[in-house]
Amino acid sequence: MPLVNLADESQCVSFYDAVRIGLGRSQGLFFPKVEELPKLPVDELLAMPFAQRSGVILSALAGGDISIEDATEMAQQAFNFAAPVVAVNEAVSCLELFHGPTLAFKDFGARFMALALAKAKEVNGDNRPSTIVTATSGDTGAAVAAAFYRQSSARVVVLYPQNKVSPLQARLFTTLGDNVQSIAVNGDFDQCQALVKQLFNDAEAVNHLNLNSANSINISRLFAQVCYYFEAWAQLSTDKQNRTTIVVPSGNFGNVCAALLAMQLGLPIKRVIAATNSNDTVPRYLQSRQWQPSPTKQTLSNAMDISAPNNWPRVEALLAHNPELGGRFESVSVSEQDTVEALQALHSQGYLSEPHTAVAFSAFKKQQQQGEHGLIVGTAHPAKFAELVEQILGASIELPKRLQHVIGKAELNQTMEPDYQQLREFLFDYQ
Ligand SMILES: *Cc1c(COP(=O)(O)O)cnc(C)c1O
Repeated sequence: MPLVNLADESQCVSFYDAVRIGLGRSQGLFFPKVEELPKLPVDELLAMPFAQRSGVILSALAGGDISIEDATEMAQQAFNFAAPVVAVNEAVSCLELFHGPTLAFKDFGARFMALALAKAKEVNGDNRPSTIVTATSGDTGAAVAAAFYRQSSARVVVLYPQNKVSPLQARLFTTLGDNVQSIAVNGDFDQCQALVKQLFNDAEAVNHLNLNSANSINISRLFAQVCYYFEAWAQLSTDKQNRTTIVVPSGNFGNVCAALLAMQLGLPIKRVIAATNSNDTVPRYLQSRQWQPSPTKQTLSNAMDISAPNNWPRVEALLAHNPELGGRFESVSVSEQDTVEALQALHSQGYLSEPHTAVAFSAFKKQQQQGEHGLIVGTAHPAKFAELVEQILGASIELPKRLQHVIGKAELNQTMEPDYQQLREFLFDYQ
């Protein structure tokens, strides 16, 4: 059994069980046994096409629980859009992860998870659809809803704070219908998340609804994200391959954990920098060794407004097993003012971006070493944050087709008070 529960090491499970269960005993996260992860033949891998290479990586991460053939086929289906490395200037490039159906990097993880969950059910002889309930401030809900839309393996329920997700973003999940339901909760994101937590603590609901979560605690999402870091290296010139540092705009620290996993597997990343906004629990922790989340602050990069990053135990597990990684990992916080200035600086260099990516750009400027090339991770398309970006840059943004086509569609969401009983009844009534 290749995956271990980080909160209770007596629980080891297969990859497919981890996908089905989501969270282990004592709320523990599943993770590979770091000491058992192989070093991959990087040169050979970088010469392969994306899907085939991803098949090898995914199979290795899952300890062989998925065959290379199956994993390649899943990668082919899930990652059917580009992840280009685009030059910003001499010293900086952007790994653009926003060319999927919902224009954010979460499409990679969500699409792979949808395939992995279907496969997990097949392996387990379980043909009862799962209920996937997810709280979102935007990107997760859209990616998960799109990935599971019209899949018989699951029904998706997206909870989001009413009037606090941009109307355009909300339309990516409120207009779908079929097996995707959306509920605008009259409250804030924390209240949505609290409702979901309560649901997972309700044993009867978990069982009756065959409940699953699609947030970044699901190990399949994390594994999918390792693949695009290798893809980035395949695109870098050999001159840059040994002097490139990855800078990841971070909230729950899933994406940056995937970069560290890629490093553990042998990808020659110079350093990994986790860039946060003013929700700086991790940068403070790395200085003081005190874990002291403060109340969450609202920022321009709102998908990163998280003060207790739920993937942190995974990062710690990696660093604990491999101190060398620790020497090549750091985390920096970026102020609102610096975010605005970074967005403007990018624009003046001819690169139109958005606030999350701008946080990474600013962090790299602060930390850059002599001769180092920075690969900032572009986590969302500028059009997803069009209003904000237009306001800051005074430039107008053209909406890509995928966003244009949801504008005319009817919204099918319900509205609800942040009331657990009401949510429970709503979920139980659906057959
Ligand atoms: C989710 C998200 C992030 C944060 O990613 P984590 O894996 O949670 O650290 C950053 N940028 C955007 C646009 C996101 O949607």
